[in-house]
Amino acid sequence: MINRPAGGYLMCTDCKTIVSNDDYTKDSTLSNPKNPFPECGHKSVRELWPRWDVLTIIDDTNLEDSDSQNSGTLKLILYNSIFDFQFEDFLVDLLRKCNTANNVIDFILNSSANFPDRIALFKQLTGEKLKDVLENNGFADFGSEFRILRDSRNNFVHRTFEVDFDDLAHCFEVIERDMLKVFMFLHNKYISTR
Ligand SMILES: [Zn+2]
Repeated sequence: MINRPAGGYLMCTDCKTIVSNDDYTKDSTLSNPKNPFPECGHKSVRELWPRWDVLTIIDDTNLEDSDSQNSGTLKLILYNSIFDFQFEDFLVDLLRKCNTANNVIDFILNSSANFPDRIALFKQLTGEKLKDVLENNGFADFGSEFRILRDSRNNFVHRTFEVDFDDLAHCFEVIERDMLKVFMFLHNKYISTR
């Protein structure tokens, strides 16, 4: 299942920086706002990241229990959905950061609902290609494997219900390893005001 540190990720509500929560020491625990947040030093309220419905799927869905065909099918669908949820949240945050009104955000997202449009929106807002950003920041594998994941999902859903899940083992491995790291990285690069 998608890799997540035991203590999860926390976001500083002041500057929107996200860190991996691996400090369980009573006196310095990050869940206590009196302790300065790493990176920014803010003593603000901390929010769990990512959003709760994504966390619920990541933490509570046991994908390894069922047989490999079932578990592969579920992963194929869920991992794509998790990417889409995360990417949409990211784009909303980016549009908010550009002071876009909520009704305009709704309009933009509704009129660019498919994946190529969302990728184009990223480029419009950041001036960079998502593919290049991933490649230049140590996530080249994630970019290429996610393309395979999305193509396999589309193939599975729209053409045939037959996918060789053995071929996707490496793909799943990379996606599970990097999914949340990629979005934490994008968030800290483009949304955080630190
Ligand atoms: Zn902060």
